[in-house]
Amino acid sequence: MARVSPILIVAIDPADHALLAPLIRPLSGTFGADVDVAKGMSLDGSFALNVSRNQYASTSLITALLERFEDFNGKILGVTSGDLFVPVLTYVFGEAQLDGKVAVVSSHRLRDDFYGLEPDPSLLRLRFLKESVHELGHAFGLLHCHDYLCVMHSSTGVEEIDIKTEKLCTECQTRLASSVR
Ligand SMILES: [Zn+2]
Ligand SMILES: [Zn+2]
Repeated sequence: MARVSPILIVAIDPADHALLAPLIRPLSGTFGADVDVAKGMSLDGSFALNVSRNQYASTSLITALLERFEDFNGKILGVTSGDLFVPVLTYVFGEAQLDGKVAVVSSHRLRDDFYGLEPDPSLLRLRFLKESVHELGHAFGLLHCHDYLCVMHSSTGVEEIDIKTEKLCTECQTRLASSVR
């Protein structure tokens, strides 16, 4: 079997650094890859801040990670607690290069306290895992999936994230297995 690209998790400040380590084991299980957290190498995301929107341009973060980790031979998952946007959308939970190297994901709108509710740390970790798997799935070449329980199902709100699982459906697993290298 071909060797799967390793995954490197990189904090993009502002970031909730406590969310990084819990991703290692489940991401490794899902993608069959070595997963590591880049220690002491966090990226300052302030250059991507759009002051009038008070949001971070996710595409700029992807570009910066590509440059910074030019020599890394694997997938990069950038994680931030900053609110992400792409110009045509109000917000995004994350963004990835399809069949590319870099994915970014934000915890900002995954927190229950963002919606005026009591903080729920375990729910936050689960949502964050789902969106991390989803964006990395794109980086591994997976498209959106019609199965609403599949982690590759597209989610525009946390309600949809809560419905889907953190797992790839059988079809997406098959696609992943035939595309990884
Ligand atoms: Zn997607
Ligand atoms: Zn699927």
